[in-house]
Amino acid sequence: MSVLPILIWPDTRLQQRCAPVRSEQLDDLITDMFDTMYAAKGRGLAAPQVGVLKRLFVMDCTWKDGTPSPMVMINPTIMATENDPATAEEGCLSIPGVLVKVTRPKAVTLQWTAREGDIHMADFDGFEALCIQHEFDHLNGVVTFDHLDPQTRAHLETEFLEAAK
Ligand code: ZN
Repeated sequence: MSVLPILIWPDTRLQQRCAPVRSEQLDDLITDMFDTMYAAKGRGLAAPQVGVLKRLFVMDCTWKDGTPSPMVMINPTIMATENDPATAEEGCLSIPGVLVKVTRPKAVTLQWTAREGDIHMADFDGFEALCIQHEFDHLNGVVTFDHLDPQTRAHLETEFLEAAK
C-alpha cells in the first residue's frame, strides 16, 4: 500500500484516451489509488492521474461525512444521461487550487465492472453523478478546462500556470 504521485496538468498523460482493462491484476493499483485519493483529500481518482492509462477510477463521495462508501469502476460505460443539466464548481486533484464551473447532465446510468469482476449497472444523481462524469472524462483525456469557452479557459490556465511557478 502506498500513496502514489498525482500527475499535474498539463502533463500529457492526462490528455490521452485510456485503454480498456483486459485481465490485468489490479488489486495493488486499486489499493494504492484509494490510499492516494484519501491522502489527497479527494473524492474521486482516475488511473491516468497516477500515470496508468487504463479505464478505471475509484471514488468515495461520502467519506468526508464520516461514512465511507468506496467504489471501483472498471471499464465504465455511461449508458444514459438525464437531459436536465446542472452546473457546479469542480475541483480536480490534477489541477489543485482551481475550481471550474462545469455543466453536466444531472443524472447518469452507469455500467461497470467491479473489483471482484462482476458487472453492475446503476443510476446515480447528485454529487455521485457529477463525480462519475468527472472521473469518466479523465479516461478520455478530458479535464475540467476542456469544458470551458476559449476565453475563460485561457484565463484560468494562465492563472494556474502562473501560480504553479
Ligand atoms: Zn480530476
